Amino acid sequence: MKSIDLHSHTVVSDGRLTPKELVERAKANGVEVLSITDHDTISAYEQLADIDLDGLTIIPGIEFSTQWRGVGVHIVGLNLNLDSPAIKEGVAQQEKARSKRALLIAQRLIKAKLPIDFQRVEEIAQYTNVGRPHFAQHMVELGIVKDMSAAFKKYLGNGKVGDVKQCWAELEQIVRWIVEADGVAVLAHPLKYKMTRTKLSALLDDFRAVGGRGMEVVSGQQTKDETRLLARFCVEKGLLASCGSDFHQPSRWSEIGSMSAFPKECEPVWTDWNGVNTYSAETQFSA
Ligand code: MN
Ligand code: MN
Ligand code: MN
Repeated sequence: MKSIDLHSHTVVSDGRLTPKELVERAKANGVEVLSITDHDTISAYEQLADIDLDGLTIIPGIEFSTQWRGVGVHIVGLNLNLDSPAIKEGVAQQEKARSKRALLIAQRLIKAKLPIDFQRVEEIAQYTNVGRPHFAQHMVELGIVKDMSAAFKKYLGNGKVGDVKQCWAELEQIVRWIVEADGVAVLAHPLKYKMTRTKLSALLDDFRAVGGRGMEVVSGQQTKDETRLLARFCVEKGLLASCGSDFHQPSRWSEIGSMSAFPKECEPVWTDWNGVNTYSAETQFSA
């Protein structure tokens, strides 16, 4: 099987590599098909025109934030037509939501007596809109927590004081943007939400009911039991299976192209598309 990585980030969201650096690293790691799925933005694709892809196939993608029954959930859109009005509308609306949310997070943390300097958080974000990882970095530099994961555990993770998610577009709306842009909507990293199996099953049913077509059955390196569980859900719910490293930066979390084996019983999401939106050097996106 080809080396396929359909979930990755660059500096235009919370990744650390530029789109060019990410492409170089993916090629060096033997990736043959790559999707860049930055949080609520497709602007990495504007920077691909001058890059030598050298045979690497790029599948235009995005990772949208939403919420479902009070839990923050991520939806990956794959094989998008980046020129479609739907995806542009989606990105614009989520960007507004993100700025509103950043201010709300700052207000809540300040109310909780943390000495947050919002201007400094914006500086940390640099290339992009402020998200929770930027607050986490700020907390580390202030010495409030020892590292970013501690910041999420204490202040920013699901259900904590700095966890604001009601701003995002609804699940149904997110899926509609993806579908209208000729893409496939995929539930990202289903085990990251720490739901019970019953709840995850309900989420998958709801997701399918609004037009969701796939789920990640492989997200970076995971145990055989985790893959088995996700593969079973995938087959049971009649969904297509996707895989991605969720790469953000070198030597932290997953490496680009490094994933557990793809379960044979699942139907891969890439059998569903005919390469119509596949990025090539000749394609110009006016994103
Ligand atoms: Mn991220
Ligand atoms: Mn995610
Ligand atoms: Mn991600």
